[in-house]
Amino acid sequence: MYDYIIVGQGIAGTMLAHFLDEKNKRFLIVDKKHEHAASLIAAGVINPITGRNFVKSWRIDEFIPFANNIYRILENKFDISILESRNIAMIFNSVNTENNWMVRSSNPELKKYISNDFQVDFYTKFMKNVKNGVEFKNGGRVKIKEIVLSYKKELKDKQKYLEEAFDYSELNIQQNNIAYKGIYSKRIIFAEGFQAIHNPFFNYLPFMPAKGDMLLVRINNHPGEKKIIKHGVFIINLEDDIYWIGSTYNREYKTLKPNSDNKLDLIKRLKRVIKSPFTVIKHLTAIRPTVRDRRPFIGKHPIFSNLYIFNGMGAKGATLAPYFAHQFIQHLEHNKIIDKEVDIKRYISYFNV
Ligand SMILES: Cc1cc2nc3c(=O)[nH]c(=O)nc-3n(C[C@H](O)[C@H](O)[C@H](O)COP(=O)(O)OP(=O)(O)OC[C@H]3O[C@@H](n4cnc5c(N)ncnc54)[C@H](O)[C@@H]3O)c2cc1C
Repeated sequence: MYDYIIVGQGIAGTMLAHFLDEKNKRFLIVDKKHEHAASLIAAGVINPITGRNFVKSWRIDEFIPFANNIYRILENKFDISILESRNIAMIFNSVNTENNWMVRSSNPELKKYISNDFQVDFYTKFMKNVKNGVEFKNGGRVKIKEIVLSYKKELKDKQKYLEEAFDYSELNIQQNNIAYKGIYSKRIIFAEGFQAIHNPFFNYLPFMPAKGDMLLVRINNHPGEKKIIKHGVFIINLEDDIYWIGSTYNREYKTLKPNSDNKLDLIKRLKRVIKSPFTVIKHLTAIRPTVRDRRPFIGKHPIFSNLYIFNGMGAKGATLAPYFAHQFIQHLEHNKIIDKEVDIKRYISYFNV
């Protein structure tokens, strides 16, 4: 008998596995070869100040130190680099944006994230249309894909991994446990990312998935490789001369395949801002598990007390998954409270018996 089955091993399922492992719990992961997994293509940016209005990300002062600590633990565990602290440069694309920043910059709440490193001259050497901007510190990039794949290998080696599509019709819910194809577990947690829209137990929740296309490109002589640069698009060095360029944001998608118009759009946006030539190596797409109120979906099924969900990380899996996976496991194992703003109880009125 397992303590838990976890369905889905993106960053959400991986973080659950991490905290269950810490508690020596018996668990099994079920994942269908990371089909459409957003975690495998995400840039992994942790961005403390976001948007045209330069708003501090929700509860970021709590989430960043927690996430950083977990990522450092994983670096030691797997002996790989995971967390890259890098300044995030926002190049102003209009006078309006610059004015917004002028208004916001004196806000004491933002102070610890503002870096004094921004120099226009540095950027004009290799970028076009740079008049002014700002750099933020204490954020950076997390190598989400590397975490997921390292954990996958370990869990497979320890025979805690079932590589197949979870068949919901095979789930047999009993009073004190669940059974799935002859495998018994006390509880099951669903963490399928946007594909939870196909989960008959939790598809009553208001998911609003958003498709995102990105490009991997090769850029020669790009001196900004130590920074994460947002100038219309994000330009993020991955390794050597390979850069992550993205992304698009589309709620009205019709297919799960990369969209050639989006590719052209990203190429156009990149050409508009960088001086060097570049070559596109790959065009990838995935769906973000975004939700109506932009807060995770965490908690127990309204009727079946051994069915749970851990989802809704939206566009911020790197920032949110460590903190809330920890909180959720504390809840499951020690009856600690789940924050009201993420508990799916807030959508109980959507559930039709
Ligand atoms: C283009 C793009 C850029 C992004 N950039 C960032 C960023 O910079 N920073 C950031 O924090 N976030 C970013 N995100 C968002 C981030 O990717 C998500 O928040 C995060 O990856 C969600 O993780 P997840 O584990 O919930 O879902 P996923 O990563 O989608 O994983 C779900 C897993 O469940 C499995 N699964 C689903 N259904 C089943 C089933 N029935 N049976 C078995 N297995 C199943 C899938 O195979 C998959 O492996 C980006 C997303 C996109 C698309």
